[in-house]
Amino acid sequence: MRMKMLIYKEASISGPWIHWFICTLLSLLHGVISETSRALDIMTKYPLIDGHNDLALRLRIQYNNKLSLVNPQNIPNVATDITRLTAGHVGGQVFAAYVLCTAQDKDAVRLTLEQIDVIRRMCTENPELELVTSAEGMRNSKKIACLISVEGGHSIDSSLPALRMFYQLGVRSMALTHTCNTPWAESSSRFYPYYQWKKNSLTEFGKAVVHEMNRLGMLIDLSHTSWETAREVLKHSRAPVIFSHSSAYAICNNTRNVPDDMLLLLKENGGLIMINFYNSYVACSKEADVSIVADHFDHIKLVIGAESIGIGADFDGGHGFPKGLEDVSKYSALIGELMSRNWSEEELARVLRLNFLGVFLKVEKVRDDMSNTLPSEVEIPFLEANNSCRVILTHPFIKAESSYQNRNSPLLPVTSLAWLISLVVQFI
Ligand SMILES: [Zn+2]
Repeated sequence: MRMKMLIYKEASISGPWIHWFICTLLSLLHGVISETSRALDIMTKYPLIDGHNDLALRLRIQYNNKLSLVNPQNIPNVATDITRLTAGHVGGQVFAAYVLCTAQDKDAVRLTLEQIDVIRRMCTENPELELVTSAEGMRNSKKIACLISVEGGHSIDSSLPALRMFYQLGVRSMALTHTCNTPWAESSSRFYPYYQWKKNSLTEFGKAVVHEMNRLGMLIDLSHTSWETAREVLKHSRAPVIFSHSSAYAICNNTRNVPDDMLLLLKENGGLIMINFYNSYVACSKEADVSIVADHFDHIKLVIGAESIGIGADFDGGHGFPKGLEDVSKYSALIGELMSRNWSEEELARVLRLNFLGVFLKVEKVRDDMSNTLPSEVEIPFLEANNSCRVILTHPFIKAESSYQNRNSPLLPVTSLAWLISLVVQFI
């Protein structure tokens, strides 16, 4: 009898507890499911435009760009393929044409052309993808729109004509540096303190690059530049700029991220920070989760508002992405997390695509306003870009007559001597 009473007592306590536990679990599950389905609804209405993806680099590493060996629907050992882009509600992707910094002063231009070629091929040979070159093309595409960016100013080998030819091939964005300084702009590399150019983070030629990108209607990308270079560009650019894949320095103090004072300058410029998911940049650690990524969104929203935020996940740019955000099929996990943090549909629509389209349109407007400006004939001074692969075909005195160069330049005798020596060497 006593035993029966005890059992009854146990049952009478555990009954309501079990009921409460099941109800709580169900309501949590319902919350998660409804948040996920609401996230997917919003992403169907506003398909994501992601600012940075390095699939082309993986195609180079794994297949030497031989697309005949690749099934684009299902590519192993990468985070991006057509099946997963579709599942992730991606409506536009900026694909990076990136070549290693070790190619600087060597064959960076050829290698970049090959990366542009593989992106162009991928985006024109698959019916689910569409190569676009304008904001309107991106907005109206019913497929996954591809936009080409060049990641690192070393790709133009200090040549504005090379920059213009990249534009002709469809490139609409360029990061001014990768992890190396160029002769005209400074990188945010971890070696930055060792080769910081204390007074000249953006040289006169660097300013000419900014001007020419404004004139062409190319997005200037400051991810990977040093903060000093970024500040100089923000001073000189007539058009809004982007950080295509950077996060908040206040949350993770990596120099690839953007500090609050620069976020404020970016807001003044009308530009955009597209937040990077890479563990090392969101958590300053090898491990991360969706929540820490959302912290970056919350912080930047607090500092400059949701109208200056986008997404540039950096998939395939490195190894180590947050749990739950491992590849391009999983963006909805982040959108669901932001919804649970009271981000409105309007804010999420902006973050997903409208902010990027708005900045791209403004960049094109600056191009239209500069339509009477002739292509720049500025050249980098000989001594600033001298390397063993650079052949001199014109006499430096002829260059001295051109409008850009100071005729009384103290470098002129040195330049002339170097030219004479190179001429003699060519004939030996
Ligand atoms: Zn990068």
